[in-house]
Amino acid sequence: MTAQDNPRSPIDTIIHANWIIPVIPRNTVLKYHAVAIDRGEIKAILPASEIDQLFEARKVYRLGEQALLPGLINSHGHAAMSLFRGMADDLPLQNWLNDHIWPTEQQWVSEEFVRDGNELSIAEMLLSGTTFSSDMYFFPDVFAQVSQQMGIRSQVCFPVMDFPTIWARDPDEYIHKGLQLQDDYRGSKIVNIAFGPHAPYTVSDAPLQRIAMLSEELEIPVHTHLHETRQEIQDSLKQYGKRPIKRLADLGLLSPALQAVHATHLNEEDIRLLKKANAHVIHCPESNMKLASGFCPTLTLQEAGINIALGTDGCASNNDLDLFGEMRSAAMVAKANSGNAAAITDHDALEMATINGAKSMGLEDKLGSIEPGKWADLIAINLDTVFQQPIYNPVSQLIYTNSASQLTHSWIGGKVIVEDSRLNTADTTEIIHKAKQWRDKITHKESLD
Ligand SMILES: [Zn+2]
Repeated sequence: MTAQDNPRSPIDTIIHANWIIPVIPRNTVLKYHAVAIDRGEIKAILPASEIDQLFEARKVYRLGEQALLPGLINSHGHAAMSLFRGMADDLPLQNWLNDHIWPTEQQWVSEEFVRDGNELSIAEMLLSGTTFSSDMYFFPDVFAQVSQQMGIRSQVCFPVMDFPTIWARDPDEYIHKGLQLQDDYRGSKIVNIAFGPHAPYTVSDAPLQRIAMLSEELEIPVHTHLHETRQEIQDSLKQYGKRPIKRLADLGLLSPALQAVHATHLNEEDIRLLKKANAHVIHCPESNMKLASGFCPTLTLQEAGINIALGTDGCASNNDLDLFGEMRSAAMVAKANSGNAAAITDHDALEMATINGAKSMGLEDKLGSIEPGKWADLIAINLDTVFQQPIYNPVSQLIYTNSASQLTHSWIGGKVIVEDSRLNTADTTEIIHKAKQWRDKITHKESLD
């Protein structure tokens, strides 16, 4: 057969890598394969020797000793808070919030602050392998704009609280502005909108019930901090006579649309309620450890069949947005906490940061694995370094060694966003300069540099 008898299909991109970790099927590592991409979607994943016979790409990447995997999904964060990184450390949650974070937010948070903080966080996420970020903060419209501008896919969780803040006066206004945002981004492949009631202790029954109703009617996810500390549970028992998860269940909020962030200090009844509703848990191990909030019982949740995604939480309580580090922490803390070294394997941790994140947002048909028909959100990690030698199992190297700093490329919707470890969609020098300016304003000091 001649080439003329079998013309190769023209496509946008082919990426060759020595190891491809598609996430689905589970526990799979493909050696010497390549991924074909066209119009933002994955067309095929095939042995390297076959792909060139079928497709002719405008751009071909030959990555060599690299691992290609789905872009990571950070299922919970507060991007603008990166401007508070390292400002208040080594404090328990309530002191940290009441004495440091909330007063500083009140003084400094503005649209400009949020824009600059978002740019700093999104640059950090893109350069460390995150291609999708779920965010909850004031001025969610600004996060949506910056997310589009820098090319990261996002779930924007608009906040709802009982008390007034710089973004809205009362629950009705928070919800009204959030639904406006939902209208603005209807049909967007980049920006997805969700309800973000801050926590059961900052939102009263009536707005929570309204959110439950609207979420079902409009098919919008609900993202909330839930069971972050023991104190929250004790306060709820005192005020409402029930634990927060039971209270949300009674208000109609426990459903497959619910993304419950933290989920520490769970008892059997809490787990039964989460499972019955098919709600999702967003695990933030480093934030929980740093604020000494408690442990999310991931092994028990996994055994119960509850979907567990992974988040970094904000930079003020982590203090980085490195999901590779978070995967390692998730695996380590599960083992330490359960006394079972087999708890949360390297593949389990990788699923938490990819397909499980996609499932928690109802986007598993489009995201979270390298499969034909899904959006082409991919990252490449160089394994040809002293940090990762020798390679017996690339997934082990990705999770248990220093990986984020070895990122060379990321593609979102087939578009190359990070290339040779450089960010294509923003000027990082300018981002660093603005972050230093905010530090100087916040500390009322002349520049330290
Ligand atoms: Zn949070």
